[in-house]
Amino acid sequence: MKNVQPQGSHFIDGAYVEDTAGREIACIYAATGETVATLHAATPAVVEQALASALRAQKEWAALAPVARGRVLSRVAALLRERNEELSELESIDTGKPIQETLVADATSGAEALEYYGGLTATLTGETVPLGGDFVYTIREPLGVCLGIGAWNYPTQIACWKAAPALACGNAMVFKPSEVTPLCALKLAEIFIEAGAPAGLFNVVNGYGDAAASMVSDPRVAKVSLTGSVPTGRKVYAAAAEGMRHVTMELGGKSPLIIFEDADIENAVSAAINGNFYSTGQICSNGTRVFVHEAIVDEFTERLLERTRTAVIGDPLNPDTQIGPMITETQRRKVLEYIEIGKTEGAELLLGGTAPEGGGFYIEPTIFGNVTDEMRIAREEIFGPVLSILTFGSEEEVVARANDTEFGLAAGLFTKDFTRAHRVVAQLQAGTCWINEYNLTPVEAPFGGVKMSGVGRENARAAIEHYSQVKSVYVAMGDVAAAF
Ligand code: NDP
Repeated sequence: MKNVQPQGSHFIDGAYVEDTAGREIACIYAATGETVATLHAATPAVVEQALASALRAQKEWAALAPVARGRVLSRVAALLRERNEELSELESIDTGKPIQETLVADATSGAEALEYYGGLTATLTGETVPLGGDFVYTIREPLGVCLGIGAWNYPTQIACWKAAPALACGNAMVFKPSEVTPLCALKLAEIFIEAGAPAGLFNVVNGYGDAAASMVSDPRVAKVSLTGSVPTGRKVYAAAAEGMRHVTMELGGKSPLIIFEDADIENAVSAAINGNFYSTGQICSNGTRVFVHEAIVDEFTERLLERTRTAVIGDPLNPDTQIGPMITETQRRKVLEYIEIGKTEGAELLLGGTAPEGGGFYIEPTIFGNVTDEMRIAREEIFGPVLSILTFGSEEEVVARANDTEFGLAAGLFTKDFTRAHRVVAQLQAGTCWINEYNLTPVEAPFGGVKMSGVGRENARAAIEHYSQVKSVYVAMGDVAAAF
Protein backbone atom coordinates (compact mmCIF):
# COMPACT_ATOMS: atom_id res chain seq x y z
CA MET A 1 0.00 0.00 0.00
CA LYS A 2 1.17 3.46 -0.94
CA ASN A 3 2.24 5.71 1.95
CA VAL A 4 -0.73 7.95 2.73
CA GLN A 5 0.41 9.19 6.13
CA PRO A 6 -0.10 12.98 6.01
CA GLN A 7 2.61 15.33 7.30
CA GLY A 8 0.29 16.37 10.10
CA SER A 9 -3.23 15.66 11.35
CA HIS A 10 -4.57 19.12 10.57
CA PHE A 11 -3.98 21.79 7.96
CA ILE A 12 -4.13 25.28 9.43
CA ASP A 13 -2.93 28.67 8.28
CA GLY A 14 -1.25 27.26 5.20
CA ALA A 15 0.65 24.38 6.82
CA TYR A 16 0.29 20.96 8.38
CA VAL A 17 -0.12 21.03 12.15
CA GLU A 18 0.35 18.22 14.63
CA ASP A 19 -0.46 17.90 18.30
CA THR A 20 0.21 14.37 19.50
CA ALA A 21 -1.60 15.12 22.74
CA GLY A 22 -4.85 14.53 20.83
CA ARG A 23 -6.61 11.14 20.87
CA GLU A 24 -5.37 8.80 18.18
CA ILE A 25 -7.36 8.42 14.95
CA ALA A 26 -6.51 5.20 13.09
CA CYS A 27 -7.17 5.52 9.40
CA ILE A 28 -8.22 2.04 8.29
CA TYR A 29 -8.35 0.75 4.73
CA ALA A 30 -11.80 -0.82 4.59
CA ALA A 31 -10.80 -3.41 1.99
CA THR A 32 -8.28 -5.11 4.29
CA GLY A 33 -8.73 -3.70 7.78
CA GLU A 34 -5.11 -2.49 7.86
CA THR A 35 -4.18 0.84 9.39
CA VAL A 36 -2.77 3.05 6.64
CA ALA A 37 -2.25 6.25 8.61
CA THR A 38 -2.45 7.46 12.19
CA LEU A 39 -3.62 10.93 13.07
CA HIS A 40 -4.39 12.78 16.30
CA ALA A 41 -7.69 14.43 17.06
CA ALA A 42 -7.65 18.17 17.51
CA THR A 43 -6.89 19.46 20.99
CA PRO A 44 -8.43 22.77 22.15
CA ALA A 45 -5.15 24.47 21.16
CA VAL A 46 -5.50 23.21 17.57
CA VAL A 47 -9.13 24.35 17.39
CA GLU A 48 -8.09 27.77 18.69
CA GLN A 49 -5.38 28.08 16.05
CA ALA A 50 -7.82 27.09 13.29
CA LEU A 51 -10.51 29.57 14.27
CA ALA A 52 -8.10 32.44 14.88
CA SER A 53 -6.40 32.01 11.52
CA ALA A 54 -9.72 31.61 9.67
CA LEU A 55 -10.96 34.84 11.21
CA ARG A 56 -7.85 36.66 9.99
CA ALA A 57 -7.96 35.11 6.51
CA GLN A 58 -11.65 35.88 6.06
CA LYS A 59 -11.03 39.62 6.35
CA GLU A 60 -8.18 39.49 3.84
CA TRP A 61 -10.25 37.35 1.43
CA ALA A 62 -13.40 39.46 1.62
CA ALA A 63 -11.34 42.56 0.81
CA LEU A 64 -10.21 41.10 -2.54
CA ALA A 65 -11.98 41.99 -5.75
CA PRO A 66 -14.64 39.34 -6.44
CA VAL A 67 -13.04 38.37 -9.72
CA ALA A 68 -9.74 37.73 -7.93
CA ARG A 69 -11.55 35.42 -5.49
CA GLY A 70 -13.22 33.63 -8.38
CA ARG A 71 -9.86 33.14 -10.05
CA VAL A 72 -8.50 31.31 -6.99
CA LEU A 73 -11.51 28.98 -6.93
CA SER A 74 -11.07 28.26 -10.63
CA ARG A 75 -7.40 27.45 -10.06
CA VAL A 76 -8.32 25.02 -7.29
CA ALA A 77 -10.70 23.33 -9.74
CA ALA A 78 -7.98 23.07 -12.39
CA LEU A 79 -5.55 21.49 -9.90
CA LEU A 80 -8.21 19.00 -8.77
CA ARG A 81 -8.73 17.95 -12.37
CA GLU A 82 -5.01 17.77 -13.09
CA ARG A 83 -4.49 15.49 -10.07
CA ASN A 84 -7.69 13.53 -10.40
CA GLU A 85 -5.95 10.18 -10.61
CA GLU A 86 -3.84 10.66 -7.51
CA LEU A 87 -6.76 12.16 -5.57
CA SER A 88 -9.11 9.37 -6.64
CA GLU A 89 -6.66 6.79 -5.40
CA LEU A 90 -6.49 8.54 -2.05
CA GLU A 91 -10.30 8.77 -1.95
CA SER A 92 -10.52 5.02 -2.59
CA ILE A 93 -8.05 4.32 0.22
CA ASP A 94 -9.82 6.75 2.58
CA THR A 95 -13.33 5.42 1.90
CA GLY A 96 -13.00 1.98 0.25
CA LYS A 97 -15.04 3.16 -2.75
CA PRO A 98 -14.05 1.56 -6.08
CA ILE A 99 -11.56 3.53 -8.17
CA GLN A 100 -13.93 3.36 -11.16
CA GLU A 101 -16.33 5.49 -9.07
CA THR A 102 -13.85 7.85 -7.46
CA LEU A 103 -12.28 8.74 -10.81
CA VAL A 104 -15.58 10.25 -11.96
CA ALA A 105 -17.51 11.25 -8.84
CA ASP A 106 -15.25 12.81 -6.23
CA ALA A 107 -12.42 15.23 -7.12
CA THR A 108 -14.22 15.83 -10.43
CA SER A 109 -17.47 16.66 -8.65
CA GLY A 110 -15.53 18.92 -6.30
CA ALA A 111 -13.93 20.61 -9.30
CA GLU A 112 -17.35 21.23 -10.82
CA ALA A 113 -18.48 23.00 -7.67
CA LEU A 114 -15.36 25.17 -7.69
CA GLU A 115 -15.76 25.94 -11.40
CA TYR A 116 -19.41 26.86 -10.89
CA TYR A 117 -18.84 29.14 -7.89
CA GLY A 118 -15.56 30.47 -9.29
CA GLY A 119 -17.61 31.79 -12.21
CA LEU A 120 -20.40 33.06 -9.99
CA THR A 121 -18.21 34.99 -7.51
CA ALA A 122 -18.02 38.19 -9.52
CA THR A 123 -21.77 38.19 -10.21
CA LEU A 124 -22.85 38.30 -6.57
CA THR A 125 -24.24 41.78 -6.24
CA GLY A 126 -26.96 43.60 -4.38
CA GLU A 127 -29.92 45.45 -5.87
CA THR A 128 -31.31 48.94 -6.00
CA VAL A 129 -34.87 49.49 -4.88
CA PRO A 130 -36.40 52.78 -6.09
CA LEU A 131 -38.84 54.42 -3.69
CA GLY A 132 -39.88 57.42 -5.80
CA GLY A 133 -37.04 59.79 -4.81
CA ASP A 134 -35.50 58.00 -1.86
CA PHE A 135 -34.09 54.58 -2.59
CA VAL A 136 -32.66 51.49 -0.95
CA TYR A 137 -29.64 49.54 -2.07
CA THR A 138 -28.62 46.17 -0.74
CA ILE A 139 -25.18 44.73 -0.13
CA ARG A 140 -24.65 40.98 -0.16
CA GLU A 141 -22.19 40.37 2.66
CA PRO A 142 -20.31 37.28 3.79
CA LEU A 143 -21.28 35.67 7.10
CA GLY A 144 -17.71 35.30 8.41
CA VAL A 145 -16.15 32.01 9.44
CA CYS A 146 -18.21 29.01 8.34
CA LEU A 147 -17.82 25.57 9.87
CA GLY A 148 -18.25 22.57 7.55
CA ILE A 149 -18.79 19.17 9.15
CA GLY A 150 -18.62 16.18 6.83
CA ALA A 151 -19.92 12.63 6.65
CA TRP A 152 -17.60 9.82 5.52
CA ASN A 153 -19.10 8.78 2.22
CA TYR A 154 -17.85 11.65 0.01
CA PRO A 155 -15.01 13.37 1.89
CA THR A 156 -13.70 15.41 -1.07
CA GLN A 157 -17.06 16.22 -2.61
CA ILE A 158 -18.65 17.30 0.66
CA ALA A 159 -15.69 19.56 1.49
CA CYS A 160 -15.89 21.19 -1.97
CA TRP A 161 -19.68 21.50 -2.01
CA LYS A 162 -19.43 23.45 1.24
CA ALA A 163 -16.22 25.40 0.67
CA ALA A 164 -16.92 26.57 -2.90
CA PRO A 165 -20.11 28.59 -2.22
CA ALA A 166 -18.86 29.70 1.20
CA LEU A 167 -15.63 31.11 -0.25
CA ALA A 168 -17.38 32.58 -3.28
CA CYS A 169 -19.42 34.70 -0.87
CA GLY A 170 -16.28 35.95 0.90
CA ASN A 171 -16.34 33.63 3.92
CA ALA A 172 -13.56 31.46 5.32
CA MET A 173 -14.14 27.81 6.16
CA VAL A 174 -12.95 25.47 8.86
CA PHE A 175 -13.76 21.93 7.78
CA LYS A 176 -14.03 18.95 10.14
CA PRO A 177 -14.07 15.66 8.19
CA SER A 178 -15.57 12.49 9.59
CA GLU A 179 -12.95 10.81 11.76
CA VAL A 180 -13.14 7.68 9.59
CA THR A 181 -12.12 9.56 6.43
CA PRO A 182 -9.64 12.21 7.55
CA LEU A 183 -7.24 12.20 4.57
CA CYS A 184 -8.90 13.76 1.51
CA ALA A 185 -9.78 17.18 2.88
CA LEU A 186 -6.14 17.68 3.92
CA LYS A 187 -5.09 17.34 0.28
CA LEU A 188 -7.76 19.83 -0.71
CA ALA A 189 -6.40 22.30 1.84
CA GLU A 190 -2.91 21.93 0.35
CA ILE A 191 -4.34 22.63 -3.10
CA PHE A 192 -6.09 25.80 -1.90
CA ILE A 193 -2.72 27.19 -0.81
CA GLU A 194 -1.10 26.17 -4.06
CA ALA A 195 -3.87 27.96 -5.96
CA GLY A 196 -3.14 31.21 -4.15
CA ALA A 197 -5.76 31.26 -1.39
CA PRO A 198 -4.71 33.19 1.71
CA ALA A 199 -3.34 31.01 4.52
CA GLY A 200 -6.18 30.16 6.90
CA LEU A 201 -8.98 30.54 4.35
CA PHE A 202 -9.67 26.79 4.24
CA ASN A 203 -8.48 25.02 7.37
CA VAL A 204 -8.97 21.33 8.12
CA VAL A 205 -9.35 20.19 11.70
CA ASN A 206 -9.51 16.45 12.20
CA GLY A 207 -11.17 15.00 15.23
CA TYR A 208 -14.21 13.35 16.69
CA GLY A 209 -17.67 14.84 17.14
CA ASP A 210 -16.53 16.74 20.26
CA ALA A 211 -14.03 18.82 18.25
CA ALA A 212 -16.81 19.85 15.87
CA ALA A 213 -19.20 20.47 18.76
CA SER A 214 -16.73 22.85 20.43
CA MET A 215 -16.55 24.89 17.22
CA VAL A 216 -20.35 24.91 16.75
CA SER A 217 -20.55 26.72 20.10
CA ASP A 218 -17.71 29.13 19.44
CA PRO A 219 -18.92 32.72 18.93
CA ARG A 220 -16.38 33.19 16.10
CA VAL A 221 -18.32 30.69 13.97
CA ALA A 222 -21.11 32.39 12.01
CA LYS A 223 -22.52 29.39 10.19
CA VAL A 224 -22.56 25.62 10.46
CA SER A 225 -23.09 23.34 7.49
CA LEU A 226 -23.42 19.67 8.41
CA THR A 227 -23.68 16.60 6.25
CA GLY A 228 -24.57 13.73 8.52
CA SER A 229 -27.30 11.69 10.12
CA VAL A 230 -30.58 13.02 11.52
CA PRO A 231 -29.61 12.39 15.19
CA THR A 232 -26.36 14.37 14.73
CA GLY A 233 -28.26 17.04 12.79
CA ARG A 234 -30.68 17.48 15.66
CA LYS A 235 -27.82 18.01 18.14
CA VAL A 236 -25.84 20.35 15.90
CA TYR A 237 -28.90 22.39 14.93
CA ALA A 238 -29.86 22.81 18.61
CA ALA A 239 -26.33 23.85 19.58
CA ALA A 240 -26.16 26.30 16.66
CA ALA A 241 -29.51 27.78 17.66
CA GLU A 242 -28.07 28.77 21.05
CA GLY A 243 -25.79 31.21 19.26
CA MET A 244 -28.38 32.05 16.56
CA ARG A 245 -25.98 30.76 13.90
CA HIS A 246 -26.98 30.11 10.32
CA VAL A 247 -27.26 26.43 9.45
CA THR A 248 -27.41 24.10 6.49
CA MET A 249 -28.38 20.54 7.38
CA GLU A 250 -27.85 17.83 4.78
CA LEU A 251 -29.15 14.76 6.57
CA GLY A 252 -30.34 11.24 5.93
CA GLY A 253 -33.15 9.78 3.89
CA LYS A 254 -35.31 6.78 3.04
CA SER A 255 -36.23 7.83 -0.43
CA PRO A 256 -38.82 6.23 -2.71
CA LEU A 257 -38.15 5.13 -6.28
CA ILE A 258 -41.48 4.51 -8.01
CA ILE A 259 -41.68 2.30 -11.10
CA PHE A 260 -45.01 2.64 -12.90
CA GLU A 261 -46.41 -0.12 -15.13
CA ASP A 262 -45.46 1.71 -18.36
CA ALA A 263 -41.82 2.28 -17.33
CA ASP A 264 -38.86 1.29 -19.46
CA ILE A 265 -37.83 -1.70 -17.35
CA GLU A 266 -34.13 -1.75 -18.25
CA ASN A 267 -33.72 1.93 -17.39
CA ALA A 268 -35.70 1.48 -14.18
CA VAL A 269 -33.47 -1.45 -13.19
CA SER A 270 -30.36 0.65 -13.96
CA ALA A 271 -31.70 3.40 -11.71
CA ALA A 272 -32.50 0.94 -8.91
CA ILE A 273 -28.94 -0.42 -9.15
CA ASN A 274 -27.35 3.04 -9.15
CA GLY A 275 -29.68 4.23 -6.41
CA ASN A 276 -28.89 1.34 -4.06
CA PHE A 277 -25.48 -0.14 -4.79
CA TYR A 278 -23.28 2.75 -5.96
CA SER A 279 -20.75 3.48 -3.18
CA THR A 280 -21.91 0.21 -1.61
CA GLY A 281 -25.22 1.86 -0.82
CA GLN A 282 -23.64 4.58 1.35
CA ILE A 283 -25.44 7.52 -0.25
CA CYS A 284 -27.93 9.75 1.55
CA SER A 285 -30.31 10.17 -1.39
CA ASN A 286 -30.54 6.48 -2.28
CA GLY A 287 -33.91 5.18 -3.48
CA THR A 288 -34.02 2.34 -0.98
CA ARG A 289 -37.80 1.87 -1.11
CA VAL A 290 -38.37 0.65 -4.64
CA PHE A 291 -42.14 0.73 -5.26
CA VAL A 292 -42.93 -1.39 -8.32
CA HIS A 293 -46.38 -1.61 -9.92
CA GLU A 294 -47.85 -5.08 -9.29
CA ALA A 295 -48.29 -5.72 -13.05
CA ILE A 296 -44.54 -5.58 -13.70
CA VAL A 297 -43.00 -6.57 -10.39
CA ASP A 298 -42.04 -10.10 -11.56
CA GLU A 299 -40.36 -8.89 -14.74
CA PHE A 300 -38.61 -6.03 -12.92
CA THR A 301 -37.39 -8.28 -10.09
CA GLU A 302 -36.07 -10.93 -12.45
CA ARG A 303 -33.98 -8.42 -14.43
CA LEU A 304 -32.79 -6.70 -11.26
CA LEU A 305 -31.61 -10.02 -9.82
CA GLU A 306 -30.00 -11.11 -13.08
CA ARG A 307 -28.04 -7.91 -13.40
CA THR A 308 -27.11 -7.56 -9.72
CA ARG A 309 -25.71 -11.10 -9.72
CA THR A 310 -23.05 -9.92 -12.19
CA ALA A 311 -21.72 -7.19 -9.85
CA VAL A 312 -17.95 -7.45 -9.35
CA ILE A 313 -17.08 -7.20 -5.65
CA GLY A 314 -13.45 -6.72 -4.72
CA ASP A 315 -10.38 -4.58 -4.21
CA PRO A 316 -11.37 -0.91 -4.60
CA LEU A 317 -8.08 -0.14 -6.36
CA ASN A 318 -8.74 -2.69 -9.10
CA PRO A 319 -10.39 -0.84 -12.01
CA ASP A 320 -12.77 -3.78 -12.62
CA THR A 321 -14.26 -3.62 -9.12
CA GLN A 322 -17.83 -2.33 -8.99
CA ILE A 323 -18.64 -2.92 -5.31
CA GLY A 324 -16.18 -2.08 -2.55
CA PRO A 325 -16.42 -2.66 1.20
CA MET A 326 -18.48 -0.78 3.76
CA ILE A 327 -16.63 2.09 5.39
CA THR A 328 -16.09 0.42 8.78
CA GLU A 329 -16.69 -2.83 10.59
CA THR A 330 -19.25 -0.99 12.76
CA GLN A 331 -21.21 0.07 9.70
CA ARG A 332 -21.07 -3.46 8.27
CA ARG A 333 -22.39 -4.87 11.55
CA LYS A 334 -25.22 -2.33 11.54
CA VAL A 335 -26.21 -3.29 7.99
CA LEU A 336 -26.04 -7.03 8.75
CA GLU A 337 -28.31 -6.42 11.74
CA TYR A 338 -30.85 -4.72 9.47
CA ILE A 339 -30.68 -7.70 7.11
CA GLU A 340 -31.53 -9.98 10.05
CA ILE A 341 -34.35 -7.64 11.06
CA GLY A 342 -35.72 -7.80 7.49
CA LYS A 343 -35.74 -11.59 7.55
CA THR A 344 -37.39 -11.69 10.99
CA GLU A 345 -40.05 -9.21 9.88
CA GLY A 346 -41.01 -11.53 7.02
CA ALA A 347 -39.40 -9.86 4.02
CA GLU A 348 -38.17 -12.30 1.38
CA LEU A 349 -34.38 -12.31 0.96
CA LEU A 350 -33.94 -12.62 -2.81
CA LEU A 351 -30.21 -11.96 -3.12
CA GLY A 352 -27.12 -11.44 -0.97
CA GLY A 353 -27.55 -10.85 2.72
CA THR A 354 -24.19 -12.09 3.84
CA ALA A 355 -20.66 -10.85 4.35
CA PRO A 356 -18.20 -12.54 1.97
CA GLU A 357 -15.37 -14.56 3.56
CA GLY A 358 -11.94 -12.95 3.92
CA GLY A 359 -10.68 -9.59 5.12
CA GLY A 360 -12.30 -6.21 4.68
CA PHE A 361 -15.75 -4.96 5.55
CA TYR A 362 -17.62 -6.35 2.56
CA ILE A 363 -21.34 -7.09 2.24
CA GLU A 364 -23.01 -8.56 -0.82
CA PRO A 365 -25.57 -6.41 -2.62
CA THR A 366 -28.81 -7.42 -0.95
CA ILE A 367 -32.34 -7.43 -2.34
CA PHE A 368 -35.50 -8.00 -0.33
CA GLY A 369 -38.89 -8.72 -1.94
CA ASN A 370 -42.35 -8.60 -0.37
CA VAL A 371 -41.40 -5.67 1.83
CA THR A 372 -44.25 -3.83 3.51
CA ASP A 373 -44.44 -0.24 4.73
CA GLU A 374 -44.33 -0.94 8.45
CA MET A 375 -41.16 -3.06 8.36
CA ARG A 376 -38.13 -1.38 9.90
CA ILE A 377 -36.09 -2.02 6.74
CA ALA A 378 -38.64 0.15 4.91
CA ARG A 379 -38.71 2.89 7.52
CA GLU A 380 -35.18 3.39 8.82
CA GLU A 381 -32.08 4.55 6.99
CA ILE A 382 -29.73 1.55 6.65
CA PHE A 383 -26.91 3.26 4.71
CA GLY A 384 -25.71 0.09 3.02
CA PRO A 385 -26.39 -2.04 -0.09
CA VAL A 386 -29.89 -3.14 0.87
CA LEU A 387 -32.72 -2.66 -1.62
CA SER A 388 -36.36 -3.24 -0.67
CA ILE A 389 -39.03 -4.01 -3.27
CA LEU A 390 -42.58 -2.98 -2.36
CA THR A 391 -45.54 -3.38 -4.73
CA PHE A 392 -48.41 -0.99 -5.38
CA GLY A 393 -51.63 -0.83 -7.40
CA SER A 394 -52.61 2.80 -7.96
CA GLU A 395 -50.94 6.18 -8.36
CA GLU A 396 -52.85 7.67 -5.42
CA GLU A 397 -51.82 4.79 -3.19
CA VAL A 398 -48.12 4.96 -4.07
CA VAL A 399 -47.91 8.72 -3.56
CA ALA A 400 -49.40 8.39 -0.07
CA ARG A 401 -47.07 5.53 0.82
CA ALA A 402 -44.00 7.24 -0.65
CA ASN A 403 -44.69 10.29 1.52
CA ASP A 404 -45.39 8.29 4.67
CA THR A 405 -41.94 8.80 6.16
CA GLU A 406 -40.24 11.31 8.44
CA PHE A 407 -37.58 11.84 5.75
CA GLY A 408 -37.83 13.90 2.57
CA LEU A 409 -34.46 14.02 0.87
CA ALA A 410 -35.14 12.64 -2.60
CA ALA A 411 -37.57 10.69 -4.79
CA GLY A 412 -37.61 9.24 -8.27
CA LEU A 413 -40.14 7.84 -10.68
CA PHE A 414 -40.18 5.95 -13.95
CA THR A 415 -43.03 6.32 -16.42
CA LYS A 416 -43.54 7.14 -20.09
CA ASP A 417 -46.64 9.22 -19.27
CA PHE A 418 -45.30 12.75 -18.88
CA THR A 419 -48.47 14.24 -17.41
CA ARG A 420 -48.41 11.59 -14.70
CA ALA A 421 -44.70 12.22 -14.10
CA HIS A 422 -45.23 15.92 -13.34
CA ARG A 423 -48.48 15.32 -11.43
CA VAL A 424 -46.75 12.83 -9.13
CA VAL A 425 -43.58 14.89 -8.67
CA ALA A 426 -45.75 17.82 -7.58
CA GLN A 427 -47.12 15.69 -4.74
CA LEU A 428 -43.89 14.07 -3.56
CA GLN A 429 -42.46 15.46 -0.32
CA ALA A 430 -38.79 15.53 -1.28
CA GLY A 431 -36.15 18.18 -1.91
CA THR A 432 -34.80 16.54 -5.07
CA CYS A 433 -36.80 14.48 -7.58
CA TRP A 434 -35.84 12.60 -10.73
CA ILE A 435 -38.04 11.64 -13.65
CA ASN A 436 -36.68 8.60 -15.50
CA GLU A 437 -33.28 8.90 -13.75
CA TYR A 438 -31.92 8.56 -10.26
CA ASN A 439 -29.20 10.12 -8.07
CA LEU A 440 -27.72 12.56 -10.57
CA THR A 441 -26.79 15.70 -8.64
CA PRO A 442 -25.28 18.30 -10.98
CA VAL A 443 -23.87 21.38 -9.26
CA GLU A 444 -26.22 23.53 -11.38
CA ALA A 445 -29.26 22.15 -9.50
CA PRO A 446 -30.11 22.87 -5.84
CA PHE A 447 -29.78 19.84 -3.56
CA GLY A 448 -31.23 19.32 -0.07
CA GLY A 449 -34.03 17.84 1.94
CA VAL A 450 -37.43 18.59 3.40
CA LYS A 451 -38.94 17.28 6.65
CA MET A 452 -36.28 15.56 8.82
CA SER A 453 -33.84 15.33 5.91
CA GLY A 454 -32.64 18.84 6.39
CA VAL A 455 -32.69 22.58 6.13
CA GLY A 456 -31.20 24.74 3.39
CA ARG A 457 -29.83 23.85 -0.02
CA GLU A 458 -26.41 23.08 -1.40
CA ASN A 459 -25.28 23.74 -4.99
CA ALA A 460 -26.62 26.15 -7.61
CA ARG A 461 -27.47 29.78 -6.86
CA ALA A 462 -29.60 28.53 -3.98
CA ALA A 463 -26.50 27.91 -1.83
CA ILE A 464 -25.53 31.58 -2.09
CA GLU A 465 -28.54 32.46 0.05
CA HIS A 466 -27.18 30.18 2.76
CA TYR A 467 -23.64 31.60 2.81
CA SER A 468 -24.37 35.33 2.67
CA GLN A 469 -26.61 37.94 4.22
CA VAL A 470 -28.19 41.03 2.81
CA LYS A 471 -27.73 44.49 4.26
CA SER A 472 -30.36 47.08 3.29
CA VAL A 473 -29.24 50.70 3.04
CA TYR A 474 -31.94 53.40 2.95
CA VAL A 475 -30.84 56.58 1.19
CA ALA A 476 -32.86 59.74 1.73
CA MET A 477 -32.80 62.37 -1.00
CA GLY A 478 -34.89 64.99 0.82
CA ASP A 479 -35.54 66.48 4.26
CA VAL A 480 -36.38 64.43 7.30
CA ALA A 481 -40.03 64.69 8.39
CA ALA A 482 -40.53 64.72 12.19
CA ALA A 483 -43.69 65.18 14.29
CA PHE A 484 -42.17 67.94 16.41
P1 NDP B 1 -22.80 11.33 11.49
O1 NDP B 1 -24.04 12.10 11.70
O2 NDP B 1 -22.44 10.25 12.44
O3 NDP B 1 -21.55 12.32 11.49
C1 NDP B 1 -21.48 13.44 10.63
C2 NDP B 1 -20.39 14.37 11.12
O4 NDP B 1 -20.80 15.04 12.30
C3 NDP B 1 -19.07 13.68 11.45
O5 NDP B 1 -17.99 14.49 11.04
C4 NDP B 1 -19.15 13.59 12.95
O6 NDP B 1 -17.89 13.45 13.55
C5 NDP B 1 -19.80 14.89 13.32
N1 NDP B 1 -20.45 14.93 14.63
C6 NDP B 1 -20.90 13.90 15.39
N2 NDP B 1 -21.44 14.36 16.53
C7 NDP B 1 -21.33 15.72 16.52
C8 NDP B 1 -21.71 16.77 17.40
N3 NDP B 1 -22.33 16.53 18.56
N4 NDP B 1 -21.44 18.05 17.05
C9 NDP B 1 -20.84 18.32 15.87
N5 NDP B 1 -20.46 17.36 14.99
C10 NDP B 1 -20.69 16.08 15.30
O7 NDP B 1 -22.87 10.81 9.99
P2 NDP B 1 -21.97 9.74 9.25
O8 NDP B 1 -20.59 10.26 9.15
O9 NDP B 1 -22.22 8.43 9.89
O10 NDP B 1 -22.61 9.78 7.79
C11 NDP B 1 -23.75 9.09 7.44
C12 NDP B 1 -24.97 9.98 7.48
O11 NDP B 1 -24.78 11.13 6.69
C13 NDP B 1 -26.21 9.30 6.93
O12 NDP B 1 -27.31 9.54 7.75
C14 NDP B 1 -26.40 9.97 5.59
O13 NDP B 1 -27.71 9.94 5.13
C15 NDP B 1 -25.92 11.34 5.86
N6 NDP B 1 -25.53 11.98 4.60
C16 NDP B 1 -26.30 13.00 4.11
C17 NDP B 1 -26.02 13.59 2.89
C18 NDP B 1 -26.83 14.73 2.36
O14 NDP B 1 -26.31 15.47 1.53
N7 NDP B 1 -28.06 14.91 2.76
C19 NDP B 1 -24.89 13.11 2.07
C20 NDP B 1 -24.12 12.08 2.71
C21 NDP B 1 -24.45 11.54 3.93
P3 NDP B 1 -17.32 11.97 13.84
O15 NDP B 1 -17.51 11.17 12.61
O16 NDP B 1 -15.91 12.26 14.11
O17 NDP B 1 -18.12 11.47 14.99
